[in-house]
Amino acid sequence: MGMGVAGSYLMARLRDTEHDAVGYERSTSERHDSICAWGTIRPVLEEFCRKTGRNFGDFLIHDGRRMDVRMSGGVEFGIGLHGLCTYNKLGLIKDFIKDCDVRYGQAPKLERLNQDYDMIVDCTGFHRSYLPRLKRDFFLPTYEYRVEYEDGVPYDDFYIEPFPGMSGYFWYFPLGSNTAHIGAGDYNKNHVKATDAFLKKHGGRVLATKGRPIRLATPGHCKPYHSGKVVGVGESIGTVYALLGEGIIPSMQCVEIFLENMDDFGAYERAVGKHFAVYDKVFGFVRKKIHRNFSMVRSIPDVIAIYRYMKRNEARFGMDIKMADLMKVAKA
Ligand SMILES: Cc1cc2nc3c(=O)[nH]c(=O)nc-3n(C[C@H](O)[C@H](O)[C@H](O)COP(=O)(O)OP(=O)(O)OC[C@H]3O[C@@H](n4cnc5c(N)ncnc54)[C@H](O)[C@@H]3O)c2cc1C
Repeated sequence: MGMGVAGSYLMARLRDTEHDAVGYERSTSERHDSICAWGTIRPVLEEFCRKTGRNFGDFLIHDGRRMDVRMSGGVEFGIGLHGLCTYNKLGLIKDFIKDCDVRYGQAPKLERLNQDYDMIVDCTGFHRSYLPRLKRDFFLPTYEYRVEYEDGVPYDDFYIEPFPGMSGYFWYFPLGSNTAHIGAGDYNKNHVKATDAFLKKHGGRVLATKGRPIRLATPGHCKPYHSGKVVGVGESIGTVYALLGEGIIPSMQCVEIFLENMDDFGAYERAVGKHFAVYDKVFGFVRKKIHRNFSMVRSIPDVIAIYRYMKRNEARFGMDIKMADLMKVAKA
């Protein structure tokens, strides 16, 4: 259920197996979209694509070299990039499902699905339509434009502005020579204002306006992952790295964990818990900052743990990870 990044990748991975999978997408084929800035890490996506016989290079749009960061106090710094890129996310989703049985414009009721299928995989992202409602969700509103520049782009690489208190950030993600995604997510709801201010300052023609909430509550806060025949995969169970608002790779990793454990929901829950345990720590850190419950002294062990995790996985995050940069963000 849901042909986003998780559902489409799952369909591609299940093709040519003994499973008989049917995909449902509530949007029509023409309106099917992926509301996202389309940023990811090239080598990680190359590996996922290889597993489905695709070449990620066919979908790559912009391979980043540097991300400029402008903090609210005016402090600016650059982060060296080694894999952070933008890609045609919708194009890859559509390619993953092009040879599969996908029924567009349909979101059947659970009762009907229960009658017709052995297992129902909820990949509906933020909606979590087929799983029990969460007791305490946590999400940010977002807003985004796809913009075309006729007289030169304002930035030729990645650019972000974190909001005070880490309540979210504004992003400029390049999409080729004259197009970009500009947008923001902000707990304090300045996301539309910040995006419009950037548009006003730098001009550009708006090609599309998008927005949807992004779930920051991580898997440890999104239980249950399964209920009856239904099991959640992807953002429906909170696979977003809260510090970056990054959900593409975690959702695809979640598909891999699901494939390894699909015969045993209990084992799936344990494997998800183990893999995403560090995400819970990161979410705790971000939430404390947003709710102004943050004490640098008390949070030092968390900051160090997050730094160590990201440093160990520098290639996975596709950028230079420096303690000094993390501290600048933590102190904001
Ligand atoms: C504005 C914005 C920018 C982002 N930028 C980035 C980024 O640059 N990089 C990154 O890594 N992450 C980014 N994210 C997060 C990332 O997009 C998501 O975490 C990721 O796409 C989640 O994948 P998913 O497949 O679980 O859900 P989704 O991609 O949300 O897909 C869910 C699908 O289910 C469909 N659906 C919903 N309800 C039903 C139903 N009842 N029946 C059938 N279909 C249904 C929807 O139409 C959709 O196609 C961003 C998120 C937002 C909101």
